[in-house]
Amino acid sequence: MTKAEAPKLARISVRGIVQGVGFRPFVYRLATDLNLKGWVCNTSEDVRIEIEGPRDSIDKFCLNLKAQAPPLAHIEEIAVTHLPAVGYRDFDIRRSLVDKGKCQLISPDIATCRTCLDELSDPNDRRYRYPFTNCTNCGPRFTIIEDMPYDRPKTTMRSFAMCPRCQAEYDNPLDRRFHAQPNACPICGPRVELVDNRGYAVSCSDAMYTAGQMLKAGEIVAIKGLGGFLLACDATSELAVKSLRHRKRRSSKPFAVMVENMEEAKRHCYISMEEEGLLTSPQSPIVLARWRQDSTVSREVAPNLRYLGVMLPYTPLHHILLSDVHLPLVMTSGNLSEEPIAKDNDEALRRLSGIADYFLIHNRDIYSRYDDSVAMVERGSSQLIRRARGYAPYPIPLKFKVRPVLGCGAHLKNTFCLTRDKHAFLSQHIGDMENIETVEHFADTVSLYERLFRIKPVAVAHDLHPDYLATRYAMEMNKGGIELIPVQHHHAHVASCMADNGLQSPVIGVVFDGTGLGSDGHIWGGEFLVADYHSSRRVGHLEYLPLPGGDAATRKPYRITLAYLLALLGEEGLRQGLALMKDVDNAELAIIQRQVEKRLNSPLTSSIGRLFDAVSALLGIRGEIDYEGQAAIELEMAAYKAPHEGEEDSYPYSVAEDGDLRIIKVCDLFSTVIKDSQQGVPRSGISVKFHNTVAQMVKHMCLSITGDAATNKVVLSGGVFQNRLLLNKTVGLLERSNFEVYTHKQVPCNDGGISLGQAVIASFA
Ligand SMILES: [Zn+2]
Ligand SMILES: [Zn+2]
Ligand SMILES: [Zn+2]
Repeated sequence: MTKAEAPKLARISVRGIVQGVGFRPFVYRLATDLNLKGWVCNTSEDVRIEIEGPRDSIDKFCLNLKAQAPPLAHIEEIAVTHLPAVGYRDFDIRRSLVDKGKCQLISPDIATCRTCLDELSDPNDRRYRYPFTNCTNCGPRFTIIEDMPYDRPKTTMRSFAMCPRCQAEYDNPLDRRFHAQPNACPICGPRVELVDNRGYAVSCSDAMYTAGQMLKAGEIVAIKGLGGFLLACDATSELAVKSLRHRKRRSSKPFAVMVENMEEAKRHCYISMEEEGLLTSPQSPIVLARWRQDSTVSREVAPNLRYLGVMLPYTPLHHILLSDVHLPLVMTSGNLSEEPIAKDNDEALRRLSGIADYFLIHNRDIYSRYDDSVAMVERGSSQLIRRARGYAPYPIPLKFKVRPVLGCGAHLKNTFCLTRDKHAFLSQHIGDMENIETVEHFADTVSLYERLFRIKPVAVAHDLHPDYLATRYAMEMNKGGIELIPVQHHHAHVASCMADNGLQSPVIGVVFDGTGLGSDGHIWGGEFLVADYHSSRRVGHLEYLPLPGGDAATRKPYRITLAYLLALLGEEGLRQGLALMKDVDNAELAIIQRQVEKRLNSPLTSSIGRLFDAVSALLGIRGEIDYEGQAAIELEMAAYKAPHEGEEDSYPYSVAEDGDLRIIKVCDLFSTVIKDSQQGVPRSGISVKFHNTVAQMVKHMCLSITGDAATNKVVLSGGVFQNRLLLNKTVGLLERSNFEVYTHKQVPCNDGGISLGQAVIASFA
């Protein structure tokens, strides 16, 4: 035997998402194909492998381990140690090793794979039209897991004993369903059932087909999905959509639509290559795509909007339903306005019986609530607006090691974030922390993540706002002795965008949002900071203006307009503004005047979100809102109606210096908007000019700050940057001035990303 042929032993540790994704059968095949001996097993922190054989085969094995890994595997690290051979005779898959303190990543729930789809539509297959078909490459994961390691008894599938054929698939290392924990078939697995809104079974031979017929007839059907119930109706029927709006008490907030396939998606929206890639990805999010004028989806689905949220079917049940009905279906979270999504059958019947006519339920329990994710593509790259199904609980990778902390987030669109080593476990979207149900969902999910990822936070970070329920949650933890770390809202935004982009050195942070308590006690939201993870310095902001009646004014933007005009332009400006606005009640006006003049219940704000609101209401676009951001969103939409969308004109404004602070003054902006309006310039044109102005402000300020900050890196964060027109114009102007611009990608720019920023800052504190 020559030296090269003597058997060697390699011990390999593979980390990342490598469990529950068909990794061990893949390793088994790879090893046996190369005639290598040894074993593979799951542990609490990695997949461990020992292989023995000729050196060149071992090298080939290591190469292919990464190159040919199963589609859902996400390898973070492969460590190889070479040892003397021990003389293995076979290759085995060994029992999982459990080590309590160790952390193992968990795959998100994944959209149905091509192979499972083929079985689903094959009348000769035993899983023909079986709505719970899945394999190691697709199906539920996170939503059914109660604890780690990921084995069937620790999932909500434990009550279903596999039939002999399913068991044989499960036991065979060469089968696509080897150790697929949710494996099931029509004989042994979960079943669907159609019931009416009192819970009585509807007699029918095929529940899914009958549910489809009901949808076609204009009924509203609640459908139990992966992470909760979705409410469905025919998206082409104005009557059905209106009735859903009425019952759900949601008068104009946009709904998402599920379409049968990509061809259908393109019938309703203009879909770019990047958008198509996202829609068909294993994550399969809702994508906000440009809505075609000739689409048959009712305008009631997303009133006044240019973009429609579309998604493709992502479970077998959806595929069956959509191919039965051949109609785009509204699919919206099964809840009443802002409560969390309903997940259990009883709960759904209790909470949704006033909304849905029928319920398509099943008997596989959902362990974790999990909303659909929402993404958009701008400037060729995707960014998440809501991060949940398909993404969480996969962590945001960090460039540095952090200590274990919990970031509790802020208030709206809330998430939390737990850190460990180089991972930030950002929770799925939890919701607006405005009711007890959402707060309970928050607390339950924190415990789940702590348990699943074996994290015991040593500190807890929270927003400065003392009344946020997330802040109160942090205060409660403090009673248990955990260190509290307050983090200013906009500093958290900057840190979140930095972590999203793997940045470490100080940046200029431009944060535009609606509300966030500042360190001076005022409401911030038009902020220029020089910041890193350790500290933050405010170097500029939009001037302070009064918010009459405080937060309540955000529901009625015309009140903001009145207060701003009064504060900036006095009685004469107010008079001119009133002439443009319709139906302002005199008594209400008198109250607002008093509030502003006497500074009664009128906190000061530097919010850019409120600036958009004020202009929107001044132009008569939106004076009262039904959902957060509506006035600003509709102001953006108005710009798309302009004949010269690309126009570069802007409004005047000035910048005053107050020590190190630069303050943007908008008095001239308002007086010129009024003048334009009086002279009959259309709203669309004014909106374009207004957007140009805000983008100019950013460039102007960054040019002024860059020397002082000693950096040309600019990060853009805050919910206002969901405005695509503003985002494009701002990034364009900054890049032309040689700034390096960073925007959000994996993490929402809105308050859904705050907890990540808090956690990273706290872990350095
Ligand atoms: Zn599959
Ligand atoms: Zn079976
Ligand atoms: Zn914010």
